[in-house]
Amino acid sequence: AAELAMYKVKQDGRNGLRFYAPEMQKHSERALALATALKNAIANNELALVFQPQLDLQHHCLIGAEALLRWRHAEWGVVSPAEFIPLAEQNGLIVSIGWWIIDRVLEQLAALQRAGRAELSIAVNVSAVQLVQPDFVTELQARVAASGVPAGALDLELTESVAMVNPEETGEKIARLSAAGFRISIDDFGTGYSSMSYLKRFSVDKIDKSFIDEVTHNHEDKTIVNAIIHMARNLGMTTIAEGVETEEQRNTLQRKGCDAIQGYWYSRPLPPEEFAAFVAAHR
Ligand code: C2E
Ligand code: MG
Ligand code: MG
Ligand code: MG
Repeated sequence: AAELAMYKVKQDGRNGLRFYAPEMQKHSERALALATALKNAIANNELALVFQPQLDLQHHCLIGAEALLRWRHAEWGVVSPAEFIPLAEQNGLIVSIGWWIIDRVLEQLAALQRAGRAELSIAVNVSAVQLVQPDFVTELQARVAASGVPAGALDLELTESVAMVNPEETGEKIARLSAAGFRISIDDFGTGYSSMSYLKRFSVDKIDKSFIDEVTHNHEDKTIVNAIIHMARNLGMTTIAEGVETEEQRNTLQRKGCDAIQGYWYSRPLPPEEFAAFVAAHR
């Protein structure tokens, strides 16, 4: 974890210092304040999960959701995960927050099973810092066993950055997680720098929103999305496009053979009660 934190800081330094130098002082003050406040976020009940429904494009049915973290602070209001997750990764807080998230997702999955909706799965974003913890796999298996939820209902989303930390060790962990029955997705594929051969370890390929935004009219993006869908299919993987906002994008993706979509067109991320109502309305 310490190794990864250093790596991240270096990355941020490279990207941040050069281009945002005048903002650095202000930025680091806020970052420090946020990182400090985050330590009490669980105890103060400031964290919550929202669930973004996923639509199967072939069978036109709900297949599950992605759990996304929200932090509502008394003073700052809603802080974006894009801002606070990297801070939680740097100071290691993501480990305890990550277990809190997984426990909430398991509760949600248990509720879905009680409601007779065992066919639905939930995806959870797992940080590289969580994955590199030596006890991650055994601890996850213990929590899942205690919840009574089958491992196959949980979809673990990993980003390409995990591959860059320690490819051999993470590869071995991903293999153990797959063998234990978990579905493993590669999140934001194509936005990082990992090698293609890394892909074959995953069961789901989440196509990043940056390729979807102009997929209906930009030739390059169309070609990239086509290539991702075909490669994934030939590797026996499922594709889920994220950030689908229009019907036109949905139709284009369906024509190209993308398996599923997620985005504002189908639904925004929903708080648990609204997600339960959405599930009840989508048999
Ligand atoms: P991600 O995992 O790629 O999640 C997709 C992001 O796209 C989410 O942003 C989601 O709200 C947003 N999104 C979904 N559909 C649309 C759409 O149609 N249009 C637009 N404009 N945006 C859409 P969010 O919730 O702000 O999360 C940002 C990132 O923060 C996530 O990207 C993920 O990397 C990270 N994150 C969020 N929750 C967690 C968590 O529980 N744990 C970890 N480790 N990271 C998380
Ligand atoms: Mg994700
Ligand atoms: Mg994503
Ligand atoms: Mg993304």
